[in-house]
Amino acid sequence: MTMKTPISFEFFPPKTEEGAVKLQQVHAELSTLKPEFFSVTYGAGGSTQERTINTVLDLNAKGISTAPHLSCIGSTTALLKGLLNRYQAHGINRIVALRGDLPSGMGGGTGGDFNHAIDLVAFIRKEYGDAFHLEVAAYPEMHPQAGSIEKDIQHFVAKAKAGADSAITQYFYNADAYFHFVDRIRAIGCDIPIIPGIMPITNYSNLARFSDACGAEIPRWMRKQLEAYGDDSASIKAFGLDVVSRLCEQLIAGGAPALHFYSMNQTAASKAICDRLGLSPN
Ligand code: FAD
Repeated sequence: MTMKTPISFEFFPPKTEEGAVKLQQVHAELSTLKPEFFSVTYGAGGSTQERTINTVLDLNAKGISTAPHLSCIGSTTALLKGLLNRYQAHGINRIVALRGDLPSGMGGGTGGDFNHAIDLVAFIRKEYGDAFHLEVAAYPEMHPQAGSIEKDIQHFVAKAKAGADSAITQYFYNADAYFHFVDRIRAIGCDIPIIPGIMPITNYSNLARFSDACGAEIPRWMRKQLEAYGDDSASIKAFGLDVVSRLCEQLIAGGAPALHFYSMNQTAASKAICDRLGLSPN
């Protein structure tokens, strides 16, 4: 019997009461797919701090492990320790450890005790031992601020060696970028699992804006096809399902250890891909 590829889903903390009700429903629906874990993002500079904590603790109590994202830039040691203590006291056992980005207008200096995600990983390992499974971020198409791809790969491997258990990637639509990244880091002795981050496609203008900001490439042929669909949402979704399912098939065939879906607090698109891949129960 072949093992099903493990899956996980990412949420953002809802801003409104309506969003909170919707997330409860999405969480219940995606729970039926038996994911390994859920994760909840953390706004730049800690802007969603309380909402992230409340969402994580609420969802984690429903039974499936839920991991808070935690960014360190601009934060003090005391603030992060307070958060980590709270999470530990509530039985949270997995953290997505990030540098994060400073909100615009916060000037050039970081104004905190941490400069890079590696500092947060090392801090958690030193203070909390193995209490948390640590995920870090990886960028198969290079982090947009990295000086060079060589430096970015070296920084990633140093971050892994500082104590990360596994990594989740920025999303991408080109499987070769992922395979190349994995080959490069393996060649220099980094063996942690690299879990592809999967962004379902449901809306072209949002995806284009998002991708420009985070340095994820939408291949030209995909852009042209998505543009040609205009506001024909059904065709965009059907095309997105085909393209992203095929990407996932290539990743699984090439050895990806798991898939992490950027759910955008929606059920349909991620679930359709899992159904197509045979990753849903039954
Ligand atoms: P780092 O690993 O610190 O890398 C950032 C940059 O610094 C890279 O260019 C790297 O090459 C460079 N670098 C690293 N170490 C050094 C060094 N010693 N000297 C010089 N340069 C160095 N953002 C949020 O605000 N909230 C979230 O919830 C969130 N979740 C995310 C989840 C995933 C899976 C991913 C992939 C990204 C997420 N982000 C989130 C975005 C992330 O915070 C940004 O991409 C941020 O710019 C980098 O964070 P990092 O942890 O990758 O940083």
